[in-house]
Amino acid sequence: MPKSSGSNAGTSLCRFCRTALRHTFVDLGMSPLCESYVQADQMNEMERFYPLHVKVCEKCYLVQLEEYVSREHIFSEYAYFSSYSESWLRHASNYVEMISQRLNLGADNLCVEVASNDGYLLRPDICVTFDTGSPPA
Ligand SMILES: [Zn+2]
Repeated sequence: MPKSSGSNAGTSLCRFCRTALRHTFVDLGMSPLCESYVQADQMNEMERFYPLHVKVCEKCYLVQLEEYVSREHIFSEYAYFSSYSESWLRHASNYVEMISQRLNLGADNLCVEVASNDGYLLRPDICVTFDTGSPPA
């Protein structure tokens, strides 16, 4: 059973700077959790849906969802990790090489991976060109 973070509708705060979130970035309606599968004994039960109402912070511009489900629940039985796929890692490595040449990027640039799954793009063997950082979860 998903566990709520305790955030109240209309009073959500930015995960980074704690400013009240008042601006919609995009509202994609409702969706079940990704990478969660219905078990055989749950086939006749309703599936939970959660808002995909993405907001942007007016102070720091972090784009974010409210935390409707705890991180522990989401990742306790997560079904897919990008770094499991060697072909995907090769693609990511080729992409980093291509985009760093195209945009003339180098070690002085900061690479931030958004919606990073398991952070595969920031691995030192993949993101060899950049200093790396990651957004708050
Ligand atoms: Zn903020």
